[in-house]
Amino acid sequence: MEDREFPQEIIDKFPQEEIDRIAAEMREEIEVKDRTHYFKKYESCFVGKKLVIWLIEKNYAETVEDAVQIGDFFMTKNIFHHVLRDHAFKNKNLYYRFEEHERNRGGSDTNDNWHNILEDRDGDLLTPEEQADVLSDISDWPQKNSALHDLFLDGHNRDTLNHCRPLNWVDPEADGVYDMIAIGGGAGGLVSSIGAAISGGKAAIIEKNIMGGDCLNTGCVPSKAFIKSAKVAHTVRHASQYGVEVSGEVKINFAKVMERMRKIRAEISEHDSVYKLIKKYGIDVYLGEAVFTDKKEISVNGKALQFSK
Ligand SMILES: Cc1cc2nc3c(=O)[nH]c(=O)nc-3n(C[C@H](O)[C@H](O)[C@H](O)COP(=O)(O)OP(=O)(O)OC[C@H]3O[C@@H](n4cnc5c(N)ncnc54)[C@H](O)[C@@H]3O)c2cc1C
Repeated sequence: MEDREFPQEIIDKFPQEEIDRIAAEMREEIEVKDRTHYFKKYESCFVGKKLVIWLIEKNYAETVEDAVQIGDFFMTKNIFHHVLRDHAFKNKNLYYRFEEHERNRGGSDTNDNWHNILEDRDGDLLTPEEQADVLSDISDWPQKNSALHDLFLDGHNRDTLNHCRPLNWVDPEADGVYDMIAIGGGAGGLVSSIGAAISGGKAAIIEKNIMGGDCLNTGCVPSKAFIKSAKVAHTVRHASQYGVEVSGEVKINFAKVMERMRKIRAEISEHDSVYKLIKKYGIDVYLGEAVFTDKKEISVNGKALQFSK
């Protein structure tokens, strides 16, 4: 959520002790319960419109506009959040959740990402030896995982990893019994878990490597990028058939072809991003190897996850 600026009047009116006092009152008086929207259940939340009415009735705000601004101010103080964390506070039937009712939804536990750890202070990419050194420090995944060993960590691939294999990932707190757990974040796992989530189910994905699976990383997407370059070369070589004269030799710059592929893959990787799965669909994402430990239980990174399907 972007940083917002508030009028000095609001900042002065609500010092931290006042925020804490009003927040305690809110928690007691605002109705919190499980709610459903388009078949999807949102646990322990309240409705934005109700908080606006409450703020006016309690004389904390004079107008609806004041109340919305105060609500937004409390949100930036982490008293509560929109259930999907993607809305500023609004006088609408949107759902919000007090911070203490939030379950850990997973995420990177540091501000590091695949860009800043592999760059020096001037923003230049580290040498391969320096990169190997950094990678050996951050987790055991790069050593175990051949996909990363072979990956050329340029800006495009680092974008892809930031979306599909964020650094220092911490798995979510399990959300009770899942209706469906997909092993693998490839096309199959993505489509089935999104389907389960938008039908109102509790869904999780476990991916041991890079989200997107074959289709994004090595199959559909890269192959189509190469096919396009090949078609362009073929068309230019046979341009005279179309009445177009091209002089000189047509050469393939393979490094450029590869770079274009990595760029396209990075752009598309946003669709398979772990953050999109969490924020847009409420799917829990675990990054590790799944192992069945029972008919209805899977273990990942030492955690036991229960599922019904
Ligand atoms: C060159 C090429 C071009 C292609 N072009 C097209 C196309 O144009 N159109 C099309 O429809 N299809 C295309 N395909 C096929 C498409 O890529 C596959 O059908 C699709 O990727 C299969 O998806 P999936 O989810 O079943 O498996 P995958 O994509 O293989 O995903 C499986 C995922 O599961 C993970 N995984 C495996 N075991 C575990 C475990 N125990 N724990 C955690 N994670 C695990 C893997 O790391 C992987 O990410 C192409 C394939 C190739 C090779």
